[in-house]
Amino acid sequence: MRRLSQKETEKKVLEIKREIVRVGKLMHEHTLVSGTGGTMASRVPNSKLFVITPSGFNKGRLSPEHLVVMNLKGEVVEGNYKPSIEIFAFLEIFNNLSRVKAIVHTHSSMAIAAGLLRIEVPPAIVKTVIEIGSKIPLARYACPGTKQLGKNLVEALKDSNAVLMERHGVLAVGQDLETALNKAIIVEELCTQYLTARLFGEVTNLSKEEMSEVYDVIKAWGELKKFRSIQDWEKTLSRYGRS
Ligand SMILES: [Zn+2]
Repeated sequence: MRRLSQKETEKKVLEIKREIVRVGKLMHEHTLVSGTGGTMASRVPNSKLFVITPSGFNKGRLSPEHLVVMNLKGEVVEGNYKPSIEIFAFLEIFNNLSRVKAIVHTHSSMAIAAGLLRIEVPPAIVKTVIEIGSKIPLARYACPGTKQLGKNLVEALKDSNAVLMERHGVLAVGQDLETALNKAIIVEELCTQYLTARLFGEVTNLSKEEMSEVYDVIKAWGELKKFRSIQDWEKTLSRYGRS
């Protein structure tokens, strides 16, 4: 791994701070949090640093100077404020899951409702399979601010980039903050749709074969670089035995 020079690191840190400010506004616009709720953090590439939101601030009204730069040992490198109370959980995730570059944690309502019912949202809606996976997993309850919460989250994140947090909210991860935020938005949407449908009757899930068809079609679509006519699509699909 190439180490960044001091100047490069400072530039990267500033870029990430600006991105956290921008994504914090989006998080509020989508009403995924209220008051001072929610947490965001992003790694600084090619370094052992990350930037995290401070405790007690409205995430829609942040400025770069409010943010806290930390290292993976949990030491503050720069910043005048306390990091989020979820620092233990975020450290646990960054230290155990190298694929995770950014984390967004929200308190959206229908996702909390699903978590209260201890529902792991099943693959009933096609979008669940495409965007999240075979289900939206549930991280078992642990008190906010504790290392145990981090351990429960790491466990639930093993096969998914977005999880429900029992009695608490949503945690989504990704290559960058906006990707993680989009997952959190999608989780709320899927929980709303799934729980609403359940109010009116039984909901069935996609079968294994239907799920594997969705994966094949999405993979085939990704493979199709140029689309000149419907025959191009037909040919690509047929390579997967689909039509
Ligand atoms: Zn929280």
